[in-house]
Amino acid sequence: MKTSLDRLLHARTGPMTSAMVLRPADFGLGRVPARLNPAATTRSICGFCSTGCALQIHLNDLGEAINLSADPTYPINLGMACPKGWEALAPLAAPDRATAPLLRNTATGALAPVSWERALAALTSNFKRIQQEAGPHAVAVLSTGQIVTEEMALLGALAKFGMGLLHVDSNTRQCMATSHVAYKQSFGFDAPPFTYADFEESDALIFIGANPCIAHPIMWQRVMMNRRNPDIVIIDPRATETAQAATLHVSLRPKSDLTLLYGLAHLLVIRGTIKRDFIAAHTSGFEEFSAFVREFTPAHVSAETGVPVATLERLAEIIGTRERVSLWWTMGVNQSHEATRTAQAIINLALMTGNIGRPGTGANSITGQCNAMGSRLFGNATSLLGGYDFSNAEHRSKVAGIIGLPPSVIPERTGYAYDQILDAIDRGEIRGLWVIATNTAHSWINQSRAREIFGKLDFLVVQDMYTTTETAKMADLVLPAAGWGEKEGTLINSERRLGVVKKVVRAPGQALSDFAIFRLVADAWGCGEFFQAWRSPEAAFQILKDLSRGQPCDFSGIRDYAQIDGAGGIQWPFPESIRSRSDLGENRERRLFSNGKFFTPDTRARFFFDPPRPMAEPPNKDYPFLLMTGRGSSAQWHTGSRTDKSAVLRKLAPTVLTVEIHPDDAAELSIAPGDNVTIRSRRGHAKAVAVVTSTVQRRQIFLPMHFAAVNRLTFASFDPHSRQPGYKACAVAVSRA
Ligand code: SF4
Repeated sequence: MKTSLDRLLHARTGPMTSAMVLRPADFGLGRVPARLNPAATTRSICGFCSTGCALQIHLNDLGEAINLSADPTYPINLGMACPKGWEALAPLAAPDRATAPLLRNTATGALAPVSWERALAALTSNFKRIQQEAGPHAVAVLSTGQIVTEEMALLGALAKFGMGLLHVDSNTRQCMATSHVAYKQSFGFDAPPFTYADFEESDALIFIGANPCIAHPIMWQRVMMNRRNPDIVIIDPRATETAQAATLHVSLRPKSDLTLLYGLAHLLVIRGTIKRDFIAAHTSGFEEFSAFVREFTPAHVSAETGVPVATLERLAEIIGTRERVSLWWTMGVNQSHEATRTAQAIINLALMTGNIGRPGTGANSITGQCNAMGSRLFGNATSLLGGYDFSNAEHRSKVAGIIGLPPSVIPERTGYAYDQILDAIDRGEIRGLWVIATNTAHSWINQSRAREIFGKLDFLVVQDMYTTTETAKMADLVLPAAGWGEKEGTLINSERRLGVVKKVVRAPGQALSDFAIFRLVADAWGCGEFFQAWRSPEAAFQILKDLSRGQPCDFSGIRDYAQIDGAGGIQWPFPESIRSRSDLGENRERRLFSNGKFFTPDTRARFFFDPPRPMAEPPNKDYPFLLMTGRGSSAQWHTGSRTDKSAVLRKLAPTVLTVEIHPDDAAELSIAPGDNVTIRSRRGHAKAVAVVTSTVQRRQIFLPMHFAAVNRLTFASFDPHSRQPGYKACAVAVSRA
């Protein structure tokens, strides 16, 4: 252990080289210098959202990041970046960075700095004690979609194969679990089929539960570059910024989207605007689906959704007659009590109209976090590393062989999902928890219960950039982690594109990269010999290539980080068979399923469907409003642990919680714009400032998710297939404060 620690710490503090750079003195506001010296600039992929924009990081003579600009040559963002990207360096300089391991003093109850040796000993001794007392699975891990793929894979392998844990999940459960399950069932693999060029090549873009103007602004810019005069349809209860810019806003009742989608399928069948040849050649289950949707008549669907029959007809006409139709969804679908079937109802529409595998088409799930796709493939949670199955002995043997482990260390089943881990803590089955780069005490649904549950843990380890997150404050041990810009590795974006992040800033104090921390924990635990080949992120990348070989996500043809960088990112699949192509130009924008073959055993895509179910907690007399939550602005990210650190971003978004309420409701409750309002649910209350606006329908309110008070209100319902929480519908009461 000592040797590894010495080596890693020396690597952080040793003499500067061109490959290892110092922390900048001034992070600036991301201004472009008057004269760029190409030799002093490097490219790095943004570490906030899944768009995967490239940033040019401008370095001083010592290789320190001075500031950054949006990369004009990168095929994704074409010189654009949203406010978070422009301010990506600012959160690294925050005063509340974790700069040394902190251990809670049992006498004083306070967190106090300790050496890395002491911290690692505390982690291993406490977790091993718990395992001895309560069994090997009494320690669990909650990780993130925000770290690089190499770190995710190393953590997943360390936790499950090295430490013998079973219950390992991440905040990808809150974000993309639904898409993962929906694609896996329908296509045979978690495979988003699109490329961003599809935004520009569609004749009709249908967004369901998505607000890209705010949540994915650079993707929206790509929509605005579409020269085909497309129909842009937004299906959303709110008149969001995107809905206001659309050609058609379908304002439906919250959580009636599954009914609407089945109704559209029925209309397409009776109008005869489906592609029977494609359905017959490339799908299975259509006849059953077609019979199932028969009862979703326009009159029934209109009554259930509140959407006029004429609007349903118009929507069906758009989907059924435009040559290239793309359907896009994100959290409005994924965070629902019937999320997987809703996502699959979207997939069904694409399949039955043959809108897949061609330019400008697809059933396209927009990812949330910068590396949720990496997490889906290599988090080692629901799927075995590389998208394999834990329950398949052949798969276990193959993965074990590539990593150099005995197959017996790989569990034969998946562990608990996030909510099941919390339930297991609640009943005393899990007593130790390691939380990495996520902020459960703020972001988890029905937050008060989550905090209560964390209070029951014997030992809570939080590994994070900051000591001040709501979760870090509860920890028994805080491990200081380097952030984006202070380490290297790869991210995989929404369109399956691998991009490289670079180390352009030195982490403060004793903070180490997550990769280094995982290696140290492996050594301290006594399983370091399993991970000798994981010498560095780039060495680990070679292992990931081997794991991907032969899988749908095969990227074994990629040589190294330099090739990814030089090519402007590389989408999977990129098998060795196309490695020899010197010109990657034709491969810059690639979509899946152009041959109509899917990843199921018979190569046919499947139609999945179930009857719609009522929402878990509808409004009633005592709680007459429906609360919807979502992103508030493009300057805020999740729980704000990073974006709140930027003075610029703080100026671009409200610093107090605001609530959108309809003018008629406001008048009824004597609420004027700017008034303080109290919002109560059965679980807690929150105070907010009223924004009186008809963007929300009557008896509905909207709160931005970035404020800790919001999840005091939310109700914990879960999709039964993906176990993703439904953040977007619960009953509340509203009154003037
Ligand atoms: Fe970063 Fe996403 Fe903004 Fe692009 S759109 S700059 S990836 S946060």
